[in-house]
Amino acid sequence: MSGMRNKTLKDVVTRAILNKEKWDRSKFVGASEIADCPLKIYFNKIGKSEFKGNGKTERGRAVEIALISLLKKGGLDIRYHDGHVNHQKEIKHPDFPVMVHPDGIIYQYNKPYAVLEVKSVGSEYFRKIKEPLNSWVVQTRFNAYMAGLKKAVLVAVNASDLEDIKEWEFDAMDETEALALLEKAKKIMTAVEMGIEPFAQPREDRCKWCEFKNECSNVWEPSEEAKEKEVETDEVKEPLEKLKKAKELKDEAKELETQAKAQILNTAKKYEAAKLRSGNLLAIVETRRARVTIDTKKLFAQHPEIDKSKYEKVGKPVVAIKLKEAK
Ligand code: SF4
Repeated sequence: MSGMRNKTLKDVVTRAILNKEKWDRSKFVGASEIADCPLKIYFNKIGKSEFKGNGKTERGRAVEIALISLLKKGGLDIRYHDGHVNHQKEIKHPDFPVMVHPDGIIYQYNKPYAVLEVKSVGSEYFRKIKEPLNSWVVQTRFNAYMAGLKKAVLVAVNASDLEDIKEWEFDAMDETEALALLEKAKKIMTAVEMGIEPFAQPREDRCKWCEFKNECSNVWEPSEEAKEKEVETDEVKEPLEKLKKAKELKDEAKELETQAKAQILNTAKKYEAAKLRSGNLLAIVETRRARVTIDTKKLFAQHPEIDKSKYEKVGKPVVAIKLKEAK
């Protein structure tokens, strides 16, 4: 068994890499990403990610193909879209920028029965899996919709042992559910064309693993439950100390600025000079005109005929973190 496995793996690694090169997903949204945050998909499409896969992803893909190969040898009739036997075929939606690549199509009595999706995971995680990830389920059911099949089969395989598998069967996605995802893909690709970031859908479990989390200014909106929950963990020890230090430095900077400005102003008055130099540093004292602002509250109160919403500009939500001394 292990000899056959090694031979199969060696063979399929090349196929995995070839397949990967063949798929250009920059113009389409794929099933594996369709359940994701729109902003994350957008960042991926515009090439913001430096991540182009690594040994782990290649190995994962190879393991998935090896398993399919073994399932076929074991007697399961697995083919590809349109009945292709030897290569996976893409399915493009005729009206939406969506392209999917089911891992395989399971045939029964010579007729296509269900799409097959295989996920290879590390053994530690594999043991913990009770229910499949929502994104896997969405991908598999969506693939079934795209392939025009009624059933979807999802298989998770332990990457260290191809005989260790868990499987689930679902109904294909229905028209309404699929249409919502197709529209989502269309909006994202329009945003890519126009260079305008789409709305984000932050969620704790998504943002935690997102490769863009450090540069993304979108908020995770805590649920009512999360708002009440407090967790004590050393994971925030270092960032909390950094935040505290940043606050102290800001306070100190403000104090220094106030003192320096007062001293410079007094000296400027003493010499009746608006420019004061010491070494290569020059201070220029100037009076800026007061800013003119419009009292919008008063304006809209006195002119109720104005549609306020037409003049509102909605900024991007940003994360605010308050630092408090805990008791
Ligand atoms: S960090 Fe969260 S909100 Fe930002 S792109 Fe990633 S998943 Fe979306």
